[in-house]
Amino acid sequence: MADRMEDFRNQLKEKGYKLTMQRQAVLNSIIEHEGEHLSTEEIYELVKKNHPEIGLATVYRTLLLLDRMELVYKLDLDDGCSRYELNKDNEDHRHHHLICTECGSVEEVQEDLLESLEEQILQKNGFIIKDHRVKFYGCCKKCIELLRKP
Ligand SMILES: [Zn+2]
Ligand SMILES: [Zn+2]
Ligand SMILES: [Zn+2]
Repeated sequence: MADRMEDFRNQLKEKGYKLTMQRQAVLNSIIEHEGEHLSTEEIYELVKKNHPEIGLATVYRTLLLLDRMELVYKLDLDDGCSRYELNKDNEDHRHHHLICTECGSVEEVQEDLLESLEEQILQKNGFIIKDHRVKFYGCCKKCIELLRKP
């Protein structure tokens, strides 16, 4: 975690920004809840526990900046709130998200699985795919089980 913060500090420094206490608090909350795709409000609730002086507007602005600096990614689930996750730098092509329309859960698919599609597009359109943001909507395992129960 300390290494990661150092990493973030350097990334921001390269872009001419400082890792302020607010930015550190926001990043910490996201790191501690990795894989959960927290909303701005949820991040604010976590930040508030240790830093009651930081307001929602500050958290909101901090997230916008961190997104712009590509330290975090904004995930729009069309449910009216933005969710955030860390930018994994070991990832060329972004992982996919499985969004359950029953319970709103978000799962990640780490494998790309789109290589043959990407190849076809290159052949047909002469277009090189550098990244993609794929959201699959459907019904999660848990909800399917619940629906099946008599
Ligand atoms: Zn891909
Ligand atoms: Zn579900
Ligand atoms: Zn994700």
